[in-house]
This record gives sequence, C-alpha cells and structure tokens, in this order.
Amino acid sequence: MPTNAQSPLWQRLKRDKHNAQLFQQTADYALAYLQTIAARAVYPSEDALADLAHFDEALPDESQEAITVLEQLHQWGTPATVAQGGGRYFGFVNGNIIPTALAARWLADTWDQNAGLFVMSPIAAKLEQVCENWLVDLFGLPENTVAGFVTGTSVATMCGLLVGRNTLLSRAGWDIAERGLFGAPRLKVVMSEQAHSTVRKALAILGIGREQIQLVPADEQGRLDASHLPELDALTLVILQAGNVNSGAFDPAKIVCERANEAGAWVHVDGAFGLWAAASEKTKYLTEGIELADSWSVDMHKTLNAPYDSGVVLCKDRSAIVSALQARGAYLQFSDERDNMLYTPEMSRRARGIELWALLKNLGRQGVDSLIAQLVENAQLFGTLLEKEGFRVLNDVVFNQVIVVCDTPEHTQRTLQHIQASGECWCGGSSWQGEPVIRISVCSWETTPDDVERSVQAFVTARAETAD
Ligand SMILES: *Cc1c(COP(=O)(O)O)cnc(C)c1O
Repeated sequence: MPTNAQSPLWQRLKRDKHNAQLFQQTADYALAYLQTIAARAVYPSEDALADLAHFDEALPDESQEAITVLEQLHQWGTPATVAQGGGRYFGFVNGNIIPTALAARWLADTWDQNAGLFVMSPIAAKLEQVCENWLVDLFGLPENTVAGFVTGTSVATMCGLLVGRNTLLSRAGWDIAERGLFGAPRLKVVMSEQAHSTVRKALAILGIGREQIQLVPADEQGRLDASHLPELDALTLVILQAGNVNSGAFDPAKIVCERANEAGAWVHVDGAFGLWAAASEKTKYLTEGIELADSWSVDMHKTLNAPYDSGVVLCKDRSAIVSALQARGAYLQFSDERDNMLYTPEMSRRARGIELWALLKNLGRQGVDSLIAQLVENAQLFGTLLEKEGFRVLNDVVFNQVIVVCDTPEHTQRTLQHIQASGECWCGGSSWQGEPVIRISVCSWETTPDDVERSVQAFVTARAETAD
C-alpha cells in the first residue's frame, strides 16, 4: 500500500504549492484584468456568454493539472465577467474594489485564517477589533457599539432583527432561548412600505409573519412618512431605511427614534449603502438621529468599494447580541481577547476584517469622506445632464441613486434594453410609483465626470435608436 504522501495526487499538490509559475501566471492574468477592465465593454458579449458552455462537462475522473485548470478559468471565465471594476457600471448597488483592499485580500487568502476565535487567528481578531472601533467612529454611533463581520446586509439585518426580537421578548419576561418562539408574546413590526425585500426575508426567517407587520406609507421620495407612524410600544420592532434602494432617500431617523425610544421599542436601521452618508460632511445631514437606534446593518462591498462578501451588523448592546448569537460547545476556547464568532451567526469563516482594515487605513477618514462625496457629485451630474437632454429625473438626487424615464413607459424600457446591450455602460431597471424606470447607482470609486458624460451619450443614442 502506498502511503498518502507517496500518492501521485499528494505529490502533485505538493509540487503545485511550490510552483511559482502557477501563482505568477495567475497574478499575470489578474494584473492584465485590472489594467484592461475599465476599457472593456461593460457587459459580456453574446460570444463570451455562449463560451460559458465550455464549463458544461461531467466532473473529470482524474485530477487535472493546476495550470490547465487556471488557464481554462482565465480563457472562458474572464470574458464572461461583468466589468464592475471600471467607471461605467451603474447596476443594482454594486461597488468596485479599492486596489489596496484587493491586494490585502490576496495576502489574507493565502493566510487562510479562520476568523472565529482569537486562538484560531490572533491577527483576524485584532483587525476586526480595530475595524469595529473605526466604523463606530466613522458612523458616529454610541461608544460601546459592537460589530459582527458577516457576508452582507441580508445577514446583518437578520442579526440585528434577531437581537431586537430576543431583547423585546426578554424584557417582556420571555426567555426565547429557554421557551422558544411558539407561544411568545406577539411582536409588532413597523416599517416603511418601501422597506427592502431582504428585510421582509429576514422577518420571515425570524418567525415574524406578514400579519404582524404594519407598513407605513412613504412620501414621493420614498421616505417613511412619520406623520403616519402608528402607536409604538415595548413589543414593537421598528425598521428604518438609510438609503432607499431606488431613490437613495433616507427615512427620518431622528423623529422616529425619539418616538420609539420613549415607547421602549427596538429600532434597527437598514443602512446597506446609505449608512455611509454619516461618514461624509456633505451628506451627514441625511442620517441625523441615526445614532439613536439600537442596531444597524451596513455593507462594505457597496459604497465603500470593499471586495465581496462583506457586511457588518452593529449593535449598541454587547450582551444582547452575544446572547442572541452565541453557540456553546465544550471544545470552544474563548479568550480574554476578542472572539469574533460571538457577534456573528457563523463559527468558521474567512477573515474579512483583514482587507477591510487595509482599505480603511489606506483611505483614512478624509479619503472615506471624499469617496462618498464623489459618488454623490457624479450622481448629481448624471441627473443634471440627463435632464438637460430631456429625460425626466423622478427623484431628488441626495445620494448616489438616480431614477430616470423617457416620455413613455414603453420607450423607457426599449431605451434601457439598448443601453444594456451597448456595452457603453450598464444600468438596471426598476419600478417607481407604478412606472418602469431606469435606475442608476453611482457606486464605483473609479467613475469620473467623463464616464458620466459618455454614459449620458449612451442614453441619448439609445433613446434615439428606439424611438417609434
Ligand atoms: C443591497 C441591499 C440590501 C441587501 O444587502 P446584501 O449585501 O446584498 O445582502 C439590503 N438593503 C438595501 C437597502 C440594499 O441596498
């Protein structure tokens, strides 16, 4: 019997590990990508999409050479990527990557740290602690606020609402860990009719049904209308939005939080991309009163341009979040240092705080401020130029989102399809007050006023070529 160490596969893997050519070649592919992506068509061509069929094969029986595997990935994968890493991708709310964060992630991926416990990775614990301090400072949140580093805002929101649910029930004398959810006092949820779909999903996961949700009407900008706020009490979960996914509008946090705090309700803020407004002098006014909430969710991979997957849940009550998310196992070794898994649903996970630390240190406070201000300025320029060309902009461009239409809904849709196929820029569609719209999200650090002008030209051409 050959021992494992003598098996051909083991020897091949051992050779790969020390094969500088394998990693050098991969680095060359990546560097070439970085340097050319901004000039490429923003969406993959028909041919590139058809070539994805090369991946349709049965799992090979025998192991394949690493360098061949990487070659295939580069050959058929690279052309089928969406060029988010440039200045003219305005779809969804998808950010680019800050180069330092990418480089740090390469290194961190090589370290392959498990960020769960201090004892598993002191460096991951240290840097998540530092990032927690910096983020709390940047957003102006209460001093003892803690942060959990998760995959994105979907999970961060679920965690914030989980802590809120458990805390309200606990204050009402119901220990959910002991007694479960069935038969518990009934909670009420109050949120805008325009709350993000991921909020509804989180509530469903947490056992809170649609009948328990009271939707508050939104105004013409998509802000929760506080004059329609129902009565709040100590069994109410209030959910606010910092950044409407279509219009970029902000719910009025101050007035709602003050009412909620008086009533003993819990307030969670979905600030996926908009909480970042708090970190810029230009946009800070939009988040006034946000610090009066109890928990917050925010993405690093949108406005901040960190690599995927990266979101943060923040909670002002450390013991509440720890008791909601803590797992216990005899083999777990907690330390006096920070144990990251206390603040997240996962145990084992990658150390996303490493590249986040590098990014924040690279930009500094002023860099973060100017990154945000620049996204907003480019969005405002987009709106102004489109209006000059006779498009209708339906929202006040207060942050990075622009909603735009042509003269008829049909023409708007044809224009959007033409833009998407053009490769000049890419925007998504949405619906706003019952009407199909083109939604622009300026979310890349790399976007320049020239990119905006060129994209507006693509809008003008698309509209002309699809006129009846
Ligand atoms: C993107 C977004 C989410 C979901 O965040 P993910 O990071 O995609 O999970 C939630 N709320 C709002 C307002 C968003 O823009």
